Amino acid sequence: MKVLVLNSGSSSIKYQFYDMKKSQVLAKGIVDKIGLAGSTLTHTRSDGDKVELEGEIVDHQAGIEFVLGVLVSKKHGSIKDLSEIDAVGHRVVHGGEYFQSSVILDDDSISKIEKCSQLAPLHNPPNLKGIYAMKEFLPDAPQTAIFDTAFHQTMPDYAYMYAIPYSLYKKYGLRRYGFHGTSHYYVSKTACEFLGVDYTKQRIITCHLGNGASITAIKNGKSIDTSMGLTPVEGMMMGTRSGDLDLGVLTYLIEKEELSVASANTLINKHSGLLGISGISSDMREVEKASDEGNERAKLALEVFYYRILKYIGSYTAVMGSVDIIVFTGGIGENSAKTRKSICERLAFIGLKFDEKINEKTRGKLECITDNDSPTKVLVVPTDEELVIANETMRLLA
Ligand code: ADP
Repeated sequence: MKVLVLNSGSSSIKYQFYDMKKSQVLAKGIVDKIGLAGSTLTHTRSDGDKVELEGEIVDHQAGIEFVLGVLVSKKHGSIKDLSEIDAVGHRVVHGGEYFQSSVILDDDSISKIEKCSQLAPLHNPPNLKGIYAMKEFLPDAPQTAIFDTAFHQTMPDYAYMYAIPYSLYKKYGLRRYGFHGTSHYYVSKTACEFLGVDYTKQRIITCHLGNGASITAIKNGKSIDTSMGLTPVEGMMMGTRSGDLDLGVLTYLIEKEELSVASANTLINKHSGLLGISGISSDMREVEKASDEGNERAKLALEVFYYRILKYIGSYTAVMGSVDIIVFTGGIGENSAKTRKSICERLAFIGLKFDEKINEKTRGKLECITDNDSPTKVLVVPTDEELVIANETMRLLA
């Protein structure tokens, strides 16, 4: 069984092609700068063959045609004919309150995803473009949708409600949904398998720290709270997003600086976070480097970043009554020993016994960074959202 996993974004399409029987990635790649000058397709096959193709990729349809073309090409391909693609799994960002789990796509589920576009206007429309194109090129292959929001649909109402008039929740579906669900699910499950403990009996806090960042409380295998909300801007401070912010700051700025809605949106999504405070970069490596060189604003950006992680861990520990496992993932969580150290050292009050030497050596691999007798275990787990999508597709089709 061969499954193509597609992550169709606004100007790029990422894909991975799996042979599920052999548990092998046959090929993966990215179509970049769709609709812009200099669009490219970078394709890597499992034997190391790598090719960068340039072409005029005017829209998602053209991008997907390009991907399918290279998959069957004699020189760089992995299959002889498109009929060898047994199924396509799509990453869909927002499933609203319609989807508690992944689905096999049909007209009804596609129309619900279309309705969710108003909640995620930047994400669902390009996800849908990928779905429409695949339906056209591979009409016989079943297609599935795996949602970023679905894992968090188990949150209780008191965790997802905003304290605004209830009528607005009913009218527009304004509530907290959360994102990165596939990642939080995968890394928490993987952590339990690694430790040999029952997933349905643990209290876990997963810290997905990448350019986008979110933290989730998982009790007995279910997400009960997560830091992102209606949109990904709530919660953790991120590369360029502000995270939690007094709404009064925004209304103040809208008035004083005469900001339009679009500019206010850009301010909190693109000019804030690590970039906003440090003034150097949204990239953690750059901010860490500047901080090491003595830059005060970079140091402050890091301190705010750590402080917020700590506050979320503290509040989620209270919410669950305790915490058995903390997981770090995402580019920063997997690679920044400095970030993990700053957090773990401040958690000594819950009895956590942190192994600094193992932490220092751990980069991008599955590892436990606490002592065997630490009551709370801390793990680094590389995330693999594409693999979850491929596995979910197999599960749905079985
Ligand atoms: P995205 O949310 O775009 O998927 P990633 O999960 O790839 O992001 O994470 C990107 C972040 O990870 C960047 O801030 C980058 O600086 C950081 N990162 C990657 N490698 C390292 C490293 N060795 N040390 C510190 N930060 C790192």
